Amino acid sequence: MGDGAATVVWDAALLDYDLGGDHPFNPIRLELTMRLARALGVLDGVELHVPEAASDADLERVHEVAYVAAVREAPMASWDVGHGLGTADNPVFDRMHAASSLVVGGTLLAAQRIAAGESLRAVSIAGGLHHAMRDRAAGFCVYNDCAVAISWLLDNGFDRVAYIDVDVHHGDGVQAAFYDDPRVLTISLHQHPATLWPGTGFVTELGSRSAQGSAVNVPLPPRTRDPDWQRAFHAVVPSLLGAFKPQVLVTQCGVDTHEEDPLADLSLSVDGHRATYRALRALAEEHAGGRWLATGGGGYQLLRVVPRSWTHLLATVLDRDLDPATRVPTEWLDTVRRVAPNADLPLAMGEGTDTAFAPWDGALETPVDAAIRDVRRAIFPLHGLDPDDPRD
Ligand SMILES: [Zn+2]
Repeated sequence: MGDGAATVVWDAALLDYDLGGDHPFNPIRLELTMRLARALGVLDGVELHVPEAASDADLERVHEVAYVAAVREAPMASWDVGHGLGTADNPVFDRMHAASSLVVGGTLLAAQRIAAGESLRAVSIAGGLHHAMRDRAAGFCVYNDCAVAISWLLDNGFDRVAYIDVDVHHGDGVQAAFYDDPRVLTISLHQHPATLWPGTGFVTELGSRSAQGSAVNVPLPPRTRDPDWQRAFHAVVPSLLGAFKPQVLVTQCGVDTHEEDPLADLSLSVDGHRATYRALRALAEEHAGGRWLATGGGGYQLLRVVPRSWTHLLATVLDRDLDPATRVPTEWLDTVRRVAPNADLPLAMGEGTDTAFAPWDGALETPVDAAIRDVRRAIFPLHGLDPDDPRD
């Protein structure tokens, strides 16, 4: 089937990307997501596309040869391999290169199926490793699957790619990979860098001199809730996509923006995540010919948040939207209780949060309004848009 069937990339081997011990990036987040999606029927009749590991040539689109070699050798090395490896955030693990390149292969397969016209939408929930840099691991990310996929798209018929990153952390690795490239518009909404690692993602990071306006950063104050987050998203993203006219949307859908996430301080809900995925889908339809490549990303509330939010992501990509009032299946709850007998588990697919928001109207009433104004004034003129006109 052509454009109609969305591609879902999955293979249990993706669970081998396991940083071990009590590292927060625990692959159970992916396993419980797939189990929940299956239990709800979201994946009924859906073919799962099994990826192959990305080749060195594809990794080296965005990574240094010496770094790829260091990742490959790290588990055998008895010395400090450098490159950000062997740290508390990025511990060396067995078959690190194989597992990491498989994650990249998954997002690359998603991109390839969109480019070939086999799917308009594709989702790679194991992907979204947006912090990995050219020559080093960072923030739990070894290889940058988002950047590899975007680079591949640019070499395979795409001239204008929009990357939207809704993870709580700045999408620094993807921004860095394309900071000089006007063909890629990167937009990251995140907790303000003065209050959260990696400490970048200020409004003033606009892209290099030859690509001014191609990097967009929307820093939001700690404890920002759904209505303010949605207002910021809708005050910035749709207008820029309208002006940039991307051929495909690539999105990093990290869910560490949730109020219960242990690593950060925004205050979104599962319902807010669902609303964002629906907005991204609508924006892909309106501005990118319907082409949407969605990846996962951060998210460390492993039992209560990630499985529900990414089940909504899968459902949204597949046009099988779930009502937030949908009951969480007993079968799934029983599975989770076997690994976490005392966990306080959710009973519904939403949290009863009202995600309605007042569109930005130029008013300056909250700190988020000030952030919106700053972003629009810095970026909109570079795209021929009026920063002070709410219609733009
Ligand atoms: Zn994150």
